[in-house]
Amino acid sequence: MLQDVVVATNNQGKIAEIQAILKKEPYHIISIGQIVPEFSVVEDGMSYAENAIKKARHASFLTGKMAIADDSGLEVDALGGTPGIYSARFGGEELPFPDKIALLLRQLEGTDQRVARFRCVIAVVSPEGIVETCEGVCEGMIAYEPRGSFGFGFDPIFWLPEYQKTMAELMPDVKNAISHRGKALRQLPKVFESVSAAAN
Ligand code: IMP
Repeated sequence: MLQDVVVATNNQGKIAEIQAILKKEPYHIISIGQIVPEFSVVEDGMSYAENAIKKARHASFLTGKMAIADDSGLEVDALGGTPGIYSARFGGEELPFPDKIALLLRQLEGTDQRVARFRCVIAVVSPEGIVETCEGVCEGMIAYEPRGSFGFGFDPIFWLPEYQKTMAELMPDVKNAISHRGKALRQLPKVFESVSAAAN
């Protein structure tokens, strides 16, 4: 029998990614919106893990099922590792992404120190309250100008030297193979196993 796993996001892209990566595993992936349409959590944690655990814990509490949630962000070394957990709010929550990108490029004007990474933390919470997290990192550089139209967020300025392309120029399946989120998601079967063992 398949075990229900609730994903604490209403982002259909993320749900599809999770379903694709876990398709051979004995889990039935359900979006929280199918059970609790008005689900929302204030992401006020001081780390990716705190935010991810808060979302997963709330989803598990509301549904009585195993729940997962992710939190991710872009870390730019020349900006002291910011925007990090504040990536979605960079320049203000309402600022559209092309403007967020322009703002980030302005902040890096005059520096060739372009090292950056995407980081993703996924939290798994069981109905018994067992909590585990896993993490994926994708290293790259901040490009000097945006390129490409795939993906979302900061993808058009995230340069991957080994591909000589930005993340937004990679086909979605290639991005999933190397991305921070893909790397974290592929650890889930092991994490589910250890959470289930701890709960029994
Ligand atoms: P979330 O936690 O996955 O919603 O991501 C928070 C923010 O991090 C997003 O709004 C983006 O600014 C940035 N981000 C996270 N993952 C990616 C990605 O794969 N590409 C581009 N930007 C990303």
